[in-house]
Amino acid sequence: MAKKKPAGSQMVYYFGKTRTDGDTTMKQLIGGKGANLADMTSIGLPVPPGFTITTECCDQYYQNKQKFPKGLMDDVAEAVKTLEKETGKKFGDNSNPLLVSVRSGAALSMPGMMNTILNLGLNDESVVGLVNATGNERFAYDAYRRLINMYGDVVMEVHHEYFEEAFAKIKKKYNAKDDNDVPTEGLIELVHAYKEVYKKHTKQDFPQKPMEQLELAIEAVFKSWNSDKAISYRRIEGITGLKGTAVNVQSMVFGNMGDDSGTGVAFTRNPSTGENKFYGEFLINAQGEDVVAGIRTPQPVDEMPKWKAPTDKTIGKKMHDELMKIKTKLEKHYKDVQDIEFTIEKGKLYMLQTRNGKRTGAAAVRIACEMAKEKLIDEKTAILRIPAGDLTQLLLPSFDPAAKKKEKPLTIGLPASPGAAFGKLAFSADEAVDRAHDGEKVILVRKETSPEDVDGMHSAAGILTSTGGMTSHAAVVARGWGKCCVAGAGAIEIDEKGKKIKVNGKTFTHKDVISIDGSTGEVFAGEMATVSPKMSGDFETVMKWADKHRKLGIRTNADSPEDAKRARDFGAEGIGLCRTEHMFFEPERIIHMREMILAEEKPAREAALKKLLPYQRKDFEGIFKAMAGLPVTIRLLDPPLHEFLPHDAKSQEEVSKATGIPVAKIKTRVAQLHEHNPMLGHRGCRLSVTYPEILVMQVTAITEATINCLGKKIDAKPEIMIPLVGTVKELAMLRRITEETIEDVKTKKGFKGNLPILIGTMIEIPRAALTADEVATEADFFSFGTNDLTQMTFGYSRDDINSFLPDYLSEEILERDPFQSLDTTGVGQLVAMAVEKGRKTKPKIKLGICGEHGGDPASIFFCHTVGLDYVSCSPFRVPIARLAAAQATLKHGK
Ligand code: PEP
Ligand code: MG
Repeated sequence: MAKKKPAGSQMVYYFGKTRTDGDTTMKQLIGGKGANLADMTSIGLPVPPGFTITTECCDQYYQNKQKFPKGLMDDVAEAVKTLEKETGKKFGDNSNPLLVSVRSGAALSMPGMMNTILNLGLNDESVVGLVNATGNERFAYDAYRRLINMYGDVVMEVHHEYFEEAFAKIKKKYNAKDDNDVPTEGLIELVHAYKEVYKKHTKQDFPQKPMEQLELAIEAVFKSWNSDKAISYRRIEGITGLKGTAVNVQSMVFGNMGDDSGTGVAFTRNPSTGENKFYGEFLINAQGEDVVAGIRTPQPVDEMPKWKAPTDKTIGKKMHDELMKIKTKLEKHYKDVQDIEFTIEKGKLYMLQTRNGKRTGAAAVRIACEMAKEKLIDEKTAILRIPAGDLTQLLLPSFDPAAKKKEKPLTIGLPASPGAAFGKLAFSADEAVDRAHDGEKVILVRKETSPEDVDGMHSAAGILTSTGGMTSHAAVVARGWGKCCVAGAGAIEIDEKGKKIKVNGKTFTHKDVISIDGSTGEVFAGEMATVSPKMSGDFETVMKWADKHRKLGIRTNADSPEDAKRARDFGAEGIGLCRTEHMFFEPERIIHMREMILAEEKPAREAALKKLLPYQRKDFEGIFKAMAGLPVTIRLLDPPLHEFLPHDAKSQEEVSKATGIPVAKIKTRVAQLHEHNPMLGHRGCRLSVTYPEILVMQVTAITEATINCLGKKIDAKPEIMIPLVGTVKELAMLRRITEETIEDVKTKKGFKGNLPILIGTMIEIPRAALTADEVATEADFFSFGTNDLTQMTFGYSRDDINSFLPDYLSEEILERDPFQSLDTTGVGQLVAMAVEKGRKTKPKIKLGICGEHGGDPASIFFCHTVGLDYVSCSPFRVPIARLAAAQATLKHGK
């Protein structure tokens, strides 16, 4: 390793007492795990030495038709030599062999999505060496059989089941209930049996040369970067732009050397609730994968002090004390919650991994607040720490305590990830994906979830497993997503093939609904009622901090007084979009709406509109009241009229009965109004150009409602918004009619004062953005309708994008769904241009956004950078937007 390499070409980074090449700033190059292993070594934590192969090597492997970069194995061989020197052990040795683990580790953590191989370096000779070195024959053969199994599975793709079958036979022969009950001679036999399995399925002998094992293992890790599960995980998490995975080769320590050894996984604080309490699980006499894979159910770390070994009665207390010291040291160093893996080998504690712990939204809020209080981090860091999107989890309902009291749980599992969910049972990940796609709510029920299940877990409303602990993959992944999960509900017998579960003598099939409570672990039959969440004090603190720092105003998209009130409670500072069409769908209204649309002549249309007016006025009064003192942007009717019409014979007859219009006439009118491209058709301001009486009715209702509210001392602040404008002339014409209508109403109502009703437009057609300087001459405000703007800029239909979007995402043609997160390079340019042009004409013009993007943190960041005045989003996203807006100020620095 002493050879001098040109800068940037180092492929292997060593960590250990000899020297440590990497550090915590190198996550892109040596992966998160590699960087933290180097870092932990540097701060003096007990880390078994090893080395990391860079992510660039993985990238080159793929660029180079799946061949290693030149010289990689030479550098690996040198690193192995250094490792041999430092540990005093030798690869493949028959007296004191060096064994290593080979693990993946990308720049961002992808728990369980890629490959790991343990005990590498064992062969027929070194297994004897391991017996000699440890004096523990059982242990040595146990390690060897694990290697053959893992290596066969991961490197050579021999199905794990074949090994399981061989193990079952041996267990039967020796009458062993548990893996640990198999005697040494049984394990020796098992090694032979595994070698047979290996040979049968790979047509080769198990490789005896450790360097050959290592080379293939490294390659297998590189390959796992592009396994289906890893690709799915990256897609779901929106991880893009990484070079590949690093590979960590680390000298092995053993948690399975007897009663004074063990292994565990822990978080420095509770990742579900955020409570500042060390939280984790461990297993005595076991190797790491036993804990994570949910094969044996581990004990909570709290109980560690009770652990006594025959050779050391206080081992548990000593180890626990040491872990507590490490907790403090790690948090002081990383200033964040750490998720660690540790192993105890014959009473000595080793750290195998640390990374920032994934946590629920609730935990993120509590941890950020408490760490700020503890002065570990400052307020700004605390704000930036909380993934804004995760706040949704705090706003989700939980089960109604009253309803819960009446129901006895079927069983209680582990509360692996909080929340409340109900749904019909789905028994495989694919089934969950398909049924959820068809609009069903499903609970994914599995014995244990494996990383292959990520898509199904993501689609399901909740996850229920019958084995596995709180740190099993299911739990970790679910918590990261804020998805409700109950794990380890052992009383549930799952019959995957028969598609049913049995619990407590009752049977449930894929047609039955169950409810799971991820905060308590309870499982109930049927659908349980839910209640709205209560905000914690920490949540309020975070919101206060956010409001102090943000520059963007936050409004909401709401079209009922209830939604308006809810949004206001969440901190909305007005309504940015009230879609008036939603007010026409109630039964007693739709009939007048239909009457209006079906009318062939203006007088009949006006008569129908007259009937609708009182409803509209009342709605607006309710909304103005709920938003008193705050601006309310009301958008005039937008959708194509045919959306309101009856399309089947039965409803056409009903309309005929109610209106007296003959069925034949209705049919003709429906056919007349049919459009091939309704989204690009007769909608938005085009409706008001053709039928100005619709606009007149709506503006009359708004103005009357305003005057009525002001009369009752309710401070109504309406803003009238004209949708789908593409040319300034459309807006000029409709503005004129709007102003005239307002004046008419004032006169009719004898209102003398000033009515400061703003009149503005949506910018949602590319042409409006391109000519925003002209449009601004007629607009008091712009609100970017980025749903339509995205649709029309990309030429993707909003309603049909799902037929090709999955391919576009998997091929990385698109990084994300542009209807969810604003395409800042394309659509964003139009927004930025319209902002500039609009302000050039009218420096004080008010600018906002009301497309779905107004609640998406990345898009909010963009809105901040282009200098919008506010974002508007659905009520439940208001807190997210408040936090994201503050984060934008802190990140953007302005
Ligand atoms: C938009 O197009 O972004 C918008 C807010 O309007 P709608 O979604 O109602 O078309
Ligand atoms: Mg629109």
